[in-house]
Amino acid sequence: MSTAIYTHSDCQGHDMGEGHPECPQRLAAIQDHLRATGLDMALLWRDAPLVTTQALERAHSARHVQELTALLQALEAREETRALDPDTAACPHTAAAVARAAGAAVAATDAVIDGEVSNAFCSVRPPGHHATRSEVMGFCFFNNVAVAARHALDVRGLQRVAIIDFDVHHGNGTEDIVAGDDRILMCSFFQHPLYPYSGAVPTGDNLLNLPVAPYTRGPAVRDLIEQHWIPRLDAFKPEMLFISAGFDAHREDGLAQLGLVEADYAWITERLMQVAQRHCAGRLVSCLEGGYNLSALARSVAAHLRVLAGV
Ligand SMILES: [Zn+2]
Repeated sequence: MSTAIYTHSDCQGHDMGEGHPECPQRLAAIQDHLRATGLDMALLWRDAPLVTTQALERAHSARHVQELTALLQALEAREETRALDPDTAACPHTAAAVARAAGAAVAATDAVIDGEVSNAFCSVRPPGHHATRSEVMGFCFFNNVAVAARHALDVRGLQRVAIIDFDVHHGNGTEDIVAGDDRILMCSFFQHPLYPYSGAVPTGDNLLNLPVAPYTRGPAVRDLIEQHWIPRLDAFKPEMLFISAGFDAHREDGLAQLGLVEADYAWITERLMQVAQRHCAGRLVSCLEGGYNLSALARSVAAHLRVLAGV
């Protein structure tokens, strides 16, 4: 069995302007590094399909899906760019990118549940974890991981899934969507205080939020994961794991001040793989979120993928 990597060239078309950290070069850097290290040969490369409206509506309000889709299609037709929040802009190619990013997460979920592949990584953008049920926010349009988790529950009939978010920012969008949904356990750590300045007090009993102070390094984060995430995951016994895999807690990343390195991402991935093996028959889908230092991002994704693929 193998590890699939879902991506699409459309995901590089979304461009929020000169100097924006969430840039098309992020995916190119990952691909270049996988090729240079030969790790690309160990992965099953798959084109991300377009997401369906029904899949988006399992995590977002129908009105939001309709309005945002119409807006992005209008920008595509008129070849216009528009700012949607202070950090987030849509360009003519954003419509295709968001549809591929969420489509990748759903297709990866199907492939893993069907046993075609052991696990999967979605090398996609835009990211999703700040996208709330009805709002675009913080570089995110639709919440790729939440859409995939709801697909696993509502369409594929799973009873319980876990979402693990190790991006340096609090996944407020995912929390907004899944809070109170007892079929989903969400575990995260995030730098606090930091954008979006939420998460210190979780909004549901199904959320395990671990705010950590700036300048916290890998060993302290590993201790927190060992003491809090793992027992809670073992008690919950999820049938599938979804990872919001942001790599901006890396010490070289300029958007935050945590001190993780590649070995920490490998360790976290190993611990989550063990949870997946204990409870989920190995079922795991990981979706790229943040990570803005191109070199650190590429090296960290490679460390994550080496563990997922067992190479
Ligand atoms: Zn982030």
